[in-house]
Amino acid sequence: MPSRVVALSVVDAIAASVLRDAYHRRVTAGVGWLEVGDRVFTRRYRFYDQQIGLVLGDGEALVVDTRTTPGHARELIADIGRLTPLPVRLVVDTHWHSDHVFGNHDFRPATIWGHERCRSRLLENGEHQRASLAAALPDLAEDIGSLVIDPPDRTFVDTTSLAVGARPVELHYLGRGHTDADIVIVVPDAGILFAGDLLENDAVPFFGDGYPIEWPATVTRLLGLVGGPVVPGHGSIGDRAFVERQLAEFEAVVAAARRFHAGEIDRTEALAAMPYEPVSSVEPLDRALAQLRGELD
Ligand SMILES: [Zn+2]
Repeated sequence: MPSRVVALSVVDAIAASVLRDAYHRRVTAGVGWLEVGDRVFTRRYRFYDQQIGLVLGDGEALVVDTRTTPGHARELIADIGRLTPLPVRLVVDTHWHSDHVFGNHDFRPATIWGHERCRSRLLENGEHQRASLAAALPDLAEDIGSLVIDPPDRTFVDTTSLAVGARPVELHYLGRGHTDADIVIVVPDAGILFAGDLLENDAVPFFGDGYPIEWPATVTRLLGLVGGPVVPGHGSIGDRAFVERQLAEFEAVVAAARRFHAGEIDRTEALAAMPYEPVSSVEPLDRALAQLRGELD
C-alpha cells in the first residue's frame, strides 16, 4: 500500500483538494462562510467589502473584527449562529478603525483583545470616529448613534497567545503600517493568517492614518509568518504572492516619496512613480512626505 500511496500522491492530493473544496462549498453553501482552513472561516461582507474571521475551538469560538454598527454586529452574530452553535467567547480587534471595532459591544460578555493602542486610540477618538461615520453614512446614523464604544479589555504590546478551547491562536504586533496599532492573527495549526488592514485586496489600501515609511518593514515581518492563505481586512483572500505584490507597492510608495523629498523629482513625477492610479496616489504620497518631514512622530 505505501507504494500506491506514493504513486498516487499527486493525484490523490489534487483529488483531496477538489473534494475538500466541494466539501467546503457544501458546508458553507447558503450560510456565506468559507472554510479557509480546518475550522477557520471567513465571511466577506458587501459593506466595505470586509472580511470577518471565525476560529472554532473546543466548545467556543473566536471572532476577528466586529463590523461597523450594532446592526452589522447583530447580522454577524446571526450569521455565526447559522454556522455553529459554539458561543463566541473571544473577539480580536485587528486595529481601532470603526469598521473593525464598532460592533464590539454586541459580543459581550466575550473577552475582547487588541493592541494596547487599539484600546487607547479608541478611547481618545471613538466619538470623533462616530461623528465622522454618521456624517458619511446618513442612512445608518441612528444605528451609529445607538452604539456603545467598547474598546478591548485585554491588551498586549508585542505578542501574545490565546487558546480557543485548547486551540492556540497567536497575536502579533509587527510595527506601524495602516495605523499605529495593527495586529495580525495566526492560527498555527491551520496555517491561516489574518492581516487586518495591513493588507487590502482589490482596492488601494487606506493610508489616511498610515505610516507609509514603516509599512514595508512591517509587511516584511508579516511575510515571515505566512504559512498558507492570507486574509486581508478587505477584499479577496490572498497568498504569499499577494503579500509580496503588496510589499512591492508599499516599497514603491516609499521610493517615490523619498526621491521627491530629496528634490530629485517634482510632485508630478512623484505621483507618476506611485504604484496606484493618480487619483489614489495623493494621500499615500502626502502621508509619506509628512512622515519624512517628521510630522507624524
Ligand atoms: Zn482600517
